[in-house]
Amino acid sequence: MKLTSLFLLACTVFGQRLVIQTSSILDGKGGSMRNAQIVVDGTKILSVGPGSATADYDLRGLTVMPGWIDTHIHLNWHMDENNKSAGGTRNQADDALYSAGDAWMTLQGGFTTVQSVGAAIDGVVRDRIAQGLLPGPRVLTSLRQIQANAGDPEALRALVRKTKQEGADVIKLFATSGLGAGGGQTMTDEQIQAVCGEAKALGIRAVVHAIGDSGARAAVLAGCTSIEHGTFLTNETLDLMAQRGTYFDPNLLVLHNYLDKRESFTFTQAQLDTLEKGIAPTIDVLQRARARNIKIIFGTDAVAGSHGRNAEEFVYRVRDAKEKPMDAIVSATSLSAQSLGLGGEIGAIAPGLEADLVAVVGNPQEEITAVRRVVFVMKGGKVYKNVHK
Ligand SMILES: [Zn+2]
Repeated sequence: MKLTSLFLLACTVFGQRLVIQTSSILDGKGGSMRNAQIVVDGTKILSVGPGSATADYDLRGLTVMPGWIDTHIHLNWHMDENNKSAGGTRNQADDALYSAGDAWMTLQGGFTTVQSVGAAIDGVVRDRIAQGLLPGPRVLTSLRQIQANAGDPEALRALVRKTKQEGADVIKLFATSGLGAGGGQTMTDEQIQAVCGEAKALGIRAVVHAIGDSGARAAVLAGCTSIEHGTFLTNETLDLMAQRGTYFDPNLLVLHNYLDKRESFTFTQAQLDTLEKGIAPTIDVLQRARARNIKIIFGTDAVAGSHGRNAEEFVYRVRDAKEKPMDAIVSATSLSAQSLGLGGEIGAIAPGLEADLVAVVGNPQEEITAVRRVVFVMKGGKVYKNVHK
């Protein structure tokens, strides 16, 4: 065996130790640190604190955070070569390649973990990324979306078992129609109970698309994990979520994306008006949820045109919904990690956690648009972006 192979073998076995010099860290749990060194051993953070070791990466002058987490994306929903929205409509090879492209853009945008909710093709992309064969964020996926027409409670329970068996990380169900259709409840209470109940029995999370209040309320009562969108939640349902610890995942980027890139989609003017009218209630429900200390996580509902721009959600939250920057950052890191059941692995800068880091130019606590200036991304101890001058 050559010496170089021995060296590589040693690195694989013992991990490669890297020192990152920082001047400003936001740790993902609401804390901050000045002038600390982050020591990375293999895929994990070994230590964070004062130090004088020679730095492999010098991130002084930047703000360093845990890699961001997006809890609601659609990885396969992409812009085609004519800049038109597409996804799952063509052959699998195309779909897989576009999904891989979306994953790469997302990672470059500072997001090291995403939950795709979701399509079957996500599974192979997730697995190739996990094997280290494709660059991308850590992917969790629902593999499919479960709708009211999937059958009676018994059939739905069987579908949940099948979805888990096929390798899904999470169950995604639709308790209501979309915003354009008014968001009324589509699944019966019994159907919702069947899906979330079976998921719970299997130890898998269930995230619920719910626009209107009644579907959301039924989902909260059924013990589902999170309410996605939640556009028209009443205070009573929010109170119930606070009591029960249900996560809330409001999404602003998706509405702006549809409006800003309307030429790439096929909306009628009436539909565009509905989307535009969805922004104010989303801001309102976010504020009412924040006032109740509900566990607000960080999903963008990224579709075609949003991948890589997921961080815009921070801007909408802080600039438009008047969230505190630190609340939005905790939302996108430790709280989202906790909601995914990964609180002990990702979402904070602390010893023992995966070395997932993002660094931006500027200070997002002073100017939230700093999140647009991602210059360094590390996932699991591996650097995927380093354009800091
Ligand atoms: Zn969605």
